[in-house]
Order: sequence, then C-alpha cells, then structure tokens
Amino acid sequence: CKNSIPTGPIDTTLCDYETVESVNDRLYANLHELVRMPFFKYFQIDLFRECPFWSDDGSCSDPGCAITTVDESEIPEKWRASALSRLEGSNLDERHELPGCYYRDSDFCFLDDNTEGDYYDLSLIPERYTGYSGPDAARVWRSIYEENCFGVSEVNLLSGPNPALVSLPDTMSEAFRLDGGDGGQCLEKRVYYKVISGLHASISTHICAESLNQSTGEWGPNLQCFINRVASHPERLQYIYFNTVLLLRAVARIGPYLQAFDYCSTGNHEDDAETLAKLSDVISIAQNAGRFDETVLFRGENANILKEEFKAHFRNVTRIMDCVGCDKCRLWGKIQTTGVATALKILFELDEKALDPTANHNLLQRSEVVALINTLHRFSESLEAVEDFREMWKAMSGDD
Ligand code: FAD
Repeated sequence: CKNSIPTGPIDTTLCDYETVESVNDRLYANLHELVRMPFFKYFQIDLFRECPFWSDDGSCSDPGCAITTVDESEIPEKWRASALSRLEGSNLDERHELPGCYYRDSDFCFLDDNTEGDYYDLSLIPERYTGYSGPDAARVWRSIYEENCFGVSEVNLLSGPNPALVSLPDTMSEAFRLDGGDGGQCLEKRVYYKVISGLHASISTHICAESLNQSTGEWGPNLQCFINRVASHPERLQYIYFNTVLLLRAVARIGPYLQAFDYCSTGNHEDDAETLAKLSDVISIAQNAGRFDETVLFRGENANILKEEFKAHFRNVTRIMDCVGCDKCRLWGKIQTTGVATALKILFELDEKALDPTANHNLLQRSEVVALINTLHRFSESLEAVEDFREMWKAMSGDD
C-alpha cells in the first residue's frame, strides 16, 4: 500500500500523477453530480443479447447481480428509442449491421441499434461487489486479454474473438503472461493492454470499495481485497491513472462539441443549466489535466492496418460483454467499454474539422456521450477510493 502512491510522469502520456491527484477531488465532485442529472443517468441498452462466443454464460443467480429497469414513460420523450432512431440517418452508408447492433467504420465498439433494450437509471445502480466470480468471470477476462494479439495482418472486421478462445489454457498465469510486461511490444499494443488492465483494476477497486462482509452482512471498504487485487501490482494502479488521462484528453478534445450538445429536454430549465455548468467545469479540468499526445500512435509503416486491428479487437471486447453472466456487471461492462471506445474514436478517428459542432452536429449519439461521462466518473471514483484506502492503510499501520 505504501507503494500505491505513484509519482512523476505517467508513462505514454504528457501528464504526471501529481496533476491528476491535484484535480481529482474537484473532477469527482462535478462528475458525481453530473451523472445524477437526467441527461446522464438514463441509459437504454439491450442487456440480453446472446453471447456470440460460447453458449453457457454461467448466469449469476446471486441477488447482487440483478438490476431493475425504468419504465419508458419516465424517460423524456426526446431521448426515447423511437425519437433517437430518427436522428441517426447521418452516416448510414458506413454502418455495418448485425442483429441488435451495428458499428460504423470509425467506431471502436458495437452500438445498440435502439430497437430493443430496456431503460436503466444508472444513478440507482452502483458498481460494487455482486458475487459474480469463478471460472465464468475468469473466462471473460481471459478472452478480453486474449484480444491483445496484434499481427498487423489482414483483419476480418466481423470476426469474433480468436476461435482458439474455446480451448484457452487453464492456468491464468499462462493466459495473463502479459501482466506488467511491457518489454519489446509496440506502443499501440502496450496502450491496448493498459486500457484493459486499467479498466479491470478500476472495476476491482469498486468491488473492494463497496464489498459485502459475508459474515456480518454489512457493506463497506475491504482494504485486504484492494491490496490483493490492485495495490500489490503497482502497474495496475498506474493504469487507472493512465485511463483517466486518456478519457480526460478525449473530453478536452470533444469539449466544444459537448458544450453545443442539446441537453434541454426535461422542461426543467434549472436542471438543464446545471448540467451545462457542471459539464463546463469538467471540460476545463480536462483541458488542464488531459495531457495525452494521441499523435504518437498509429504512425509510420502499417499504421492504418494496425489501427484497423486495434479497432477490430476493441469492438470484440465490446461484444464479449454480452458473455458476462451478471446483469449488473454486464451493464457497467458495456457502458465502460463503450465509454473507452468513444474516447478512442475521439482521439484516433476525428480530426479538428470533424470535431467542429457546427459542421458535424450528429457526430456522437447520446448513448456515446452518456457512456463517456459515466466512464470518466467511474475512473475518477476509483481514484477517490484509492485515496480512502491509503488513509485506511495509514490508520492501520501507523504509517505517515
Ligand atoms: P479476476 O478479477 O477475475 O481476475 C482474473 C485474473 O486476472 C487474476 O487472477 C489476475 O491474474 C489477472 N488480473 C486481475 N486484475 C488484473 C489487472 N488489473 N490487470 C491485469 N491482470 C489482472 N464482480 C463484481 O463483484 N462486481 C462487478 O461489478 C463486476 N463487474 C465485472 C465486469 C466484467 C466485465 C467482468 C468480466 C467481471 C466483473 N466482475 C464483477 C467479476 C470480477 O471482475 C472478478 O472476476 C471476480 O471478482 C473474481 O475475481 P478474482 O480475484 O478471481 O480475479
């Protein structure tokens, strides 16, 4: 835990740990209120699409895995599926359709086609311990890490994960041989690994921060859980910071577009004004701390092929989420992979012209904006929890 206070530059970014630490309280306070506003809390998603990669998804029967839906009548009319699908005509020619979802050439994820799926109030669904674990959860993580296989080869954009997934090695150490090992890999592959490992570490931090004590039935932070899963692997914690900077950079880049987005659909002008004020504060923090130079990636020979591979692999990760056997985990897994995919699209696919809100007002769907902000909130919340764990450690060990 002592080692869990990283200092100095955050690898592959232009930012340092201290800068992120110095802005996180303010960032979190703003985000925490923002994700409770109507625009950011209602989300429509089809959580019950078939897992395309294996048949037994090991459904979690623990009550902690279940979630409740929101009736469509609670959702402001403008954001309902019927209204949204009318807005999506802009780039139909580059859409690749699949049952229940699609992606455009510029996307790093599969998006819901808004014809099915329930509505959820995200502010009522915390990411925390659910009881989902064992071989099924491990298989999902293993499959996600297995996507980190780049060959600069021809990419079949519609193919699923490596068919060899069905016969993966039994030992996690073999499947996770990349853990912490940066040596000799290209920058893009290292970035891919950091993104995934950082997401995994952030989810683990939430599980440990809101953990169920099986003997007392009480909820609370579990320091030992955090030490085992995150703090004893310092690089995992570093990747939470890395993801935060990447997301902040995306928010900074898309800032003018976000500020021009239409949040006014509730009829409550105070809500609408507050949404915009909080968002503006988040954007200004992002402009200060989101120092990440996206131009150093996907350069040189084979850059475009590598980028298509990166995209195809990340899209597969978003499809693997349909194989998560716990509803609550699947919901947050889908939102966060969509949020990170949106950030990757903003950083690596959109030039300044595309980002101009007057030239391109249909650039992002509402679901992408909601996922991006909620994902940044999750990472910022993890950093807050890390701070609390440090305090617990100090109090326990008498360490200053
Ligand atoms: P796991 O977290 O399952 O990890 C498996 C192996 O991966 C470890 O043994 C280790 O070798 C390696 N590993 C672990 N962390 C990292 C890292 N950061 N970087 C690199 N390698 C790593 N459970 C909940 O209680 N609540 C949730 O909200 C939740 N959401 C989930 C979302 C998804 C998408 C998935 C796949 C699972 C989710 N789970 C959730 C399950 C949870 O992530 C764990 O799988 C479960 O708690 C069992 O944990 P574990 O200690 O066995 O190791």
